[in-house]
Amino acid sequence: MLGEMLSPAVWFPKSLEEAWGMRQRLGSHACFIAAGTLLQIEWEKGRVDPGHLINLEGIDEIKGVSREVMSGRSVVRIGALTTLGSLLSSSLVLQHSPLVTEAVRGIAAPAVRNRATIGGNVASGIGDAIPALLAADALVSTFDGSTRLTKPLWRWLQEKDNGQITSSEIVAQIELPGSGTADYFYRKIGRREAFIPSVVTIAGCCMRKEDGTITHIRLAAGGGETSPQRLQFSEKLLQGMSIQDAVLEDVYRNVLEEFQPVSDVFASAYYRKQIAANVIASELAKFA
Ligand SMILES: Cc1cc2nc3c(=O)[nH]c(=O)nc-3n(C[C@H](O)[C@H](O)[C@H](O)COP(=O)(O)OP(=O)(O)OC[C@H]3O[C@@H](n4cnc5c(N)ncnc54)[C@H](O)[C@@H]3O)c2cc1C
Repeated sequence: MLGEMLSPAVWFPKSLEEAWGMRQRLGSHACFIAAGTLLQIEWEKGRVDPGHLINLEGIDEIKGVSREVMSGRSVVRIGALTTLGSLLSSSLVLQHSPLVTEAVRGIAAPAVRNRATIGGNVASGIGDAIPALLAADALVSTFDGSTRLTKPLWRWLQEKDNGQITSSEIVAQIELPGSGTADYFYRKIGRREAFIPSVVTIAGCCMRKEDGTITHIRLAAGGGETSPQRLQFSEKLLQGMSIQDAVLEDVYRNVLEEFQPVSDVFASAYYRKQIAANVIASELAKFA
């Protein structure tokens, strides 16, 4: 029935250039599709109604995981079409960023992960991998028709098409810089047996000196329809401090103020703020 009502034309580019050219030519009625596991849900809900689908799956240059050493620092590059299943089994990703492996393990069931891509998760702006990638300081490379532009994921999300789940840019690659040996946490609060988006998804990453002083901290939260956000004021509050009760109380209050989730039928924005603040304070307390 749905198929009869909506029958978009499907295009199969073989390169980033070709895909970009198609999107330019077809305009905003066209949207990119990778495995379609999220797009299909949004389509059935009537949130997207593309006249044309540009299927990226034939673009080999944006598949796979590799490692490079740049100026003595190791960087892991993940092509956008890499499936969540291959990420989960990648020893490179596990060694480099166990936080990302843990996040991917919590997404959907194996049958979906074997098709769903990391690019689709990120490009949607609401995927559960995003808070972990933000905490891992990930960069995103997009293709602009002739070259790849790389920027911090948090910045790309801020600039992304107004909270739409579709993206007018092609996400080509995710880069994970080396994070050294950091403590981390990832918590996804909500149901996952069918795809009901999480209530809140929170991730954090922290490095400390021997005396306990925090030298590096990243905190990120998202969940539901909320675009994941880095909590930069709360990070600043913690930088250079050691984790004590008084600091955690300040962090709790700060997260309540700083995190800006949206309300939906499952939970109010304030409830989500409270969960995020509680989880962050209690996870940091565990590090102490
Ligand atoms: C049963 C089930 C359970 C699920 N559980 C979860 C869950 O727990 N957590 C979660 O986060 N998600 C979940 N999902 C949603 C989905 O599987 C993931 O978000 C997945 O990573 C999306 O990848 P995809 O390749 O299927 O993206 P698609 O559905 O193909 O695309 C998603 C969006 O990204 C765009 N897009 C895709 N690739 C690119 C690209 N390279 N460049 C630009 N735009 C692009 C598309 O236009 C679309 O708007 C679930 C889905 C199902 C069916």
